[in-house]
Amino acid sequence: MKSEFDICIIGAGMAGATIAAYLAPKGIRIALIDHCYKEKKRIVGELLQPGAVLSLEQMGLGALLDGFDAQTVEGYSLLQGDEKITIPYPNKYTGMGLHNGRFLQKIRASALQNESVTQIHGKALQLLENEQHEIIGVSYRESLTSEIKSIHAPLTITSDGFFSNFRDDLSNNEKTVTSYFIGLILKDCEMPFPKHGHVFLSGPTPFICYPISNNEVRLLIDFPGEQLPRKFLLQAHLDANVTPYIPKCMLDSYEQAMQEGGFKVMPNHYMAAKPIIRKGAVMLGDALNMRHPLTGGGLTAVFSDIQILSKHLLAMPDFNNTDLIHKKIEAYYRDRQHANANLNILANALYGVMSNDLLKTAVFKYLQCGGANAQESIAILAGLNRNHYSLIKQFFSLAVFGAYDLIRENITNLPKATKILFDALTIIKPLAKNELSVAGIVSGYFKK
Ligand SMILES: Cc1cc2nc3c(=O)[nH]c(=O)nc-3n(C[C@H](O)[C@H](O)[C@H](O)COP(=O)(O)OP(=O)(O)OC[C@H]3O[C@@H](n4cnc5c(N)ncnc54)[C@H](O)[C@@H]3O)c2cc1C
Repeated sequence: MKSEFDICIIGAGMAGATIAAYLAPKGIRIALIDHCYKEKKRIVGELLQPGAVLSLEQMGLGALLDGFDAQTVEGYSLLQGDEKITIPYPNKYTGMGLHNGRFLQKIRASALQNESVTQIHGKALQLLENEQHEIIGVSYRESLTSEIKSIHAPLTITSDGFFSNFRDDLSNNEKTVTSYFIGLILKDCEMPFPKHGHVFLSGPTPFICYPISNNEVRLLIDFPGEQLPRKFLLQAHLDANVTPYIPKCMLDSYEQAMQEGGFKVMPNHYMAAKPIIRKGAVMLGDALNMRHPLTGGGLTAVFSDIQILSKHLLAMPDFNNTDLIHKKIEAYYRDRQHANANLNILANALYGVMSNDLLKTAVFKYLQCGGANAQESIAILAGLNRNHYSLIKQFFSLAVFGAYDLIRENITNLPKATKILFDALTIIKPLAKNELSVAGIVSGYFKK
């Protein structure tokens, strides 16, 4: 039986709305389902690394960044004590700081203006299966009537975000909370380096900031641990570990924001992608894969996944051959693993480094040296260098640099130098095991 739709997309968030906006103008018939189409005020997805901007441009969606006061970001700065460094993104690539809610509404509007997209207001409930246990669509509760209805399509994309309802059906993913981010908006704030993402390393835990409109800066403060912090603990954390380290030029806006209160708290997850490949369905976005947001790599991964999945789907003549769709899903999962490994490893490795005093100092001094190492490191952060060999080389160069620097200072630092190497290995080993193949590193070496 021929379906009314080619694809059913569960979740019109960053991933679902963007793939709809990309595929719909190509005539693909899409059912887009979400239970909330209102503009949200979220603290997520507000810094697009150049890799994410580039992907949007390559899909012809670059104009979606226009007209809502998004801010160009030209590079990164690191601050530790009185010392500051800035590193520009390579080759004049730029990132973007923005209000995620405004951006998402633009993406949704772009998707929904296509006749081939049917907007459905409802909460997706359950994947529908045929007798062969192939997925043939989804049931949902319609928002207006509360009626239970169903959508049928040869392909269902589950992009329902980090609390995905369908993860257990389609993956063996294990989700862990690494820490929490406390988000504040600083109004009329003068940052040490305009048009830059900032990483502040002076305090016991890192915090970051970047512009999200012409007069607003997003401040994200890390709160370590797996437990949602209670209000009094949050306040104590800010008072002791953050306020004393806020640069003078930002202090007035920071104090104003603290007085106004209303900060938001979000969990930071790590979840390696371990999909179960089933006929008729595929996962996209945070439903499939998550990393620490310290590096702002989430949307680079999401948009890159959309490009990879779309390339495979668009290579089919139509959506009538379910065996062929299945092969395309397999190819997508295989290709995306390689494309996203650097983003996933860097995000959590850097969080480990920033939470370790010796490595934190080492990374600052390493990048302070500038040159090719700083350039290669920022290209990985920007999502422009996906070569696994580059990442491994930079990570171990940093650790060896840190160890050597300590010994050079004083030979009695030998135990500390050994500890740096050991800690670096402890951080990278589980991530590399989840994300990398030896073949990927070796082929990266030859591509250099
Ligand atoms: C604190 C924090 C800060 C971050 N900062 C950045 C950053 O600066 N840069 C960056 O690149 N990445 C960042 N990220 C990551 C990035 O925001 C995510 O990777 C991205 O938003 C994932 O998009 P998504 O479409 O998978 O999920 P979402 O954008 O969350 O979309 C999921 C959608 O599914 C809908 N939905 C859920 N359940 C159902 C259901 N049952 N039925 C129908 N619809 C449903 C929801 O309403 C929602 O619209 C950050 C993450 C966190 C936690």
